[in-house]
Amino acid sequence: MRLFEGTELDRPPRCERCDQLEADCACPPPEPKMVAAEKQTARIQVEKRKRGKVVTVVRGLNEGHPGKHLADLLTTLKNKCGAGGTIHDMDIEIQGNHLERLKRYLSEMGFKVRG
Ligand SMILES: [Zn+2]
Repeated sequence: MRLFEGTELDRPPRCERCDQLEADCACPPPEPKMVAAEKQTARIQVEKRKRGKVVTVVRGLNEGHPGKHLADLLTTLKNKCGAGGTIHDMDIEIQGNHLERLKRYLSEMGFKVRG
């Protein structure tokens, strides 16, 4: 009897999802992992810009929301606030003072909110 017979180390690797041998597995490659909303903290701040323009800045949500995801979030928040906005250095900027609204929306979406 070999030392590892019948143990984990003796078995060929199997896919965790379909339980086929890894060589036979046809599962699609896993999606890039998103960081769960409740593990992210949004820091929301109202800031004054040039010519007295006021923007509400949401920071801290770029982790796990790179590129498209951050753009989707921007679109959602713009619609909810009925305001324009942009992504600036991976931060979300919504035109005008929407501090209370954004706090409420983001916490409804599951994010931790600070600010
Ligand atoms: Zn599989």
